[in-house]
Amino acid sequence: MFKDFKNLLFPKLCACCDQVLLKEEAFICTFCRHELPLYANFFDGHHDLHKILYGRVQLERAASLFYFEKKGPIQALIHDLKYRGNKELSFYLGSWLGEILFEAGWQRSIDVVIPVPLHRQRMRERGYNQVEGFGKAIAEKLSAKYTDTILKRRSNSKTQVFKSRMARSEVIGNNFYAEHLQEVSGQHILLVDDLVTTGATLEACYLALNEAEGIKLNIATMAITK
Ligand SMILES: [Zn+2]
Repeated sequence: MFKDFKNLLFPKLCACCDQVLLKEEAFICTFCRHELPLYANFFDGHHDLHKILYGRVQLERAASLFYFEKKGPIQALIHDLKYRGNKELSFYLGSWLGEILFEAGWQRSIDVVIPVPLHRQRMRERGYNQVEGFGKAIAEKLSAKYTDTILKRRSNSKTQVFKSRMARSEVIGNNFYAEHLQEVSGQHILLVDDLVTTGATLEACYLALNEAEGIKLNIATMAITK
């Protein structure tokens, strides 16, 4: 009763088009849900990340839920997730992709899900990592572990020191480091992020994680730039 009343005063809006959601709709309206640009080619070697990261990352499998286009519905969705505090949306997207990955049999080949970490300052401003729910929901669907204590991001001030002395690619490479690597040695890791554009962040994370013995890297993202 109270919830209905609250909904009347503060109606829940679709994360893509801002229309008021119906009672049975969650996060995304039915119209948008059917219109969203789903990324279908995520199986094995056909994902664009294999091309993007070729020669840079030893990549096993990759998956993305959506195509991203500037000014498109996925831009609105990710904006909602990052800047409007809609962190439950992250779980929702993770359940969605997790279901697809489960159907594709990924639960047999993923041991641990690791999110790309946020800058500490961003974390303070936002209060949450926008890929946390996404990663946790996927881990749950695939019966894998979720851990955010291994892959770390250096603070901005430390990056500045590197900037003056090193090439740009090395700067990015040095933005991430990993701890307790023995916990993941020999494991199949699923690295998760929100949006892939150049793949530079994912490559940097791989370099940090690859310090561990015998890991296999898989990647899942909410979206990939068209
Ligand atoms: Zn909508």
